[in-house]
Amino acid sequence: MKIAILPGDGIGTEIVAEAIKVLNVLDLKLETEFALAGGVAYAATNHPLPEATLKLAKEADAVLFGAVGDWRYDQLDRPLRPEQAILGLRMNLGLFANLRPAICYEQLVGASSLKPELISGLDILIIRDATGDVYFGQPRGRRTAADGHFPGAEEGFDTMRYSRPEVERIAHVAFQAARKRNGRVTSVDKANVLETSQFWRDIMAEVSKDYPDVELDHMYVDNAAMQLVKAPKKFDVIVTGNMFGDILSDEAAMLTGSIGMLPSASLNAGNQGLYEPSHGSAPDIAGKGIANPLATILSAAMMLRFSLNQAAAANRIESAVRDVLASGLRTADIYSEGTTKVGTCAMGDAVVAAITRNASTG
Ligand code: NAD
Repeated sequence: MKIAILPGDGIGTEIVAEAIKVLNVLDLKLETEFALAGGVAYAATNHPLPEATLKLAKEADAVLFGAVGDWRYDQLDRPLRPEQAILGLRMNLGLFANLRPAICYEQLVGASSLKPELISGLDILIIRDATGDVYFGQPRGRRTAADGHFPGAEEGFDTMRYSRPEVERIAHVAFQAARKRNGRVTSVDKANVLETSQFWRDIMAEVSKDYPDVELDHMYVDNAAMQLVKAPKKFDVIVTGNMFGDILSDEAAMLTGSIGMLPSASLNAGNQGLYEPSHGSAPDIAGKGIANPLATILSAAMMLRFSLNQAAAANRIESAVRDVLASGLRTADIYSEGTTKVGTCAMGDAVVAAITRNASTG
């Protein structure tokens, strides 16, 4: 199992180092190779995603990514900015499925803006198509309206479209993920108004026939947005298109309170994946040793589960994270009175120690 490790910029190096510590203690025979991406890559090679990095990422079974972004490069032309590294990887590796779990850890219930009883025990997974929909559909642009409410007026327009293979492949990702969880998929659309959504809904229903063990229901996106704050625990896996998913995944992420806790995965058709925390390079705290490494450590757990078929090892990491939080250790972003504040490195060490302890106690 070969993993490409791309720490990137800012806190990227600090948080990825902790995830590697955790992977190493699991004794999994992983082959790891580092490469540059983002601002550090631009500084060394004049490009944020050098050929060598892309080659390594393509050859690897999975990519563990830190974060990219550095204010020193904000004046560069857009294609040379650090953030292009992640966009280039998504495009070149065909990473169409974005997976974002929203898990509320019992000890962090107070960090959410919702009432504790609504989110205590929350564990949902949002799966979003990340390469299609109105964000990429052509044609798009500005023109003079030929019809509509104001013929002859200037108008802006985009195209919402999904092809059958695009919907089928994201449907399979969702049903397969549900099989590894609680066996329920909610497909979110706007089929009462949009042709594209009715097409999406029909194909979801067709693909579901291959998964008789998984329960499928459909929900309109406006209702889904409401249900996510009203009764989020009733969901298991939510699957949706690019635009609805963009909005709903941020809404769901905030249910759990802290950005430093949120992992993510982007998968392609071959289950090769890029795993990264949902946050950025946090230049305001880079180099201070205070960043929360848990989102990256949990991203490594997702990598083991989704790309490397090592669900047991993923479970070991996730239960170690729970134990560490239960012991009262907190980085600054999730600190509250009565808990113990620790830095990035001490948090990583604590997860390693919990894994070792749990192994010895069986
Ligand atoms: P950010 O996520 O980096 O930071 C937002 C806030 O959250 C900051 O106050 C930061 O200190 C805090 N924060 C983030 N991660 C944290 C952690 N692990 N522990 C503790 N606190 C944490 O977002 P931003 O400030 O808008 O962007 C900074 C840079 O990151 C920009 O250059 C942006 O383009 C880039 N970015 C990259 C990615 C990516 O690599 N995928 C994603 C988002 C933003």
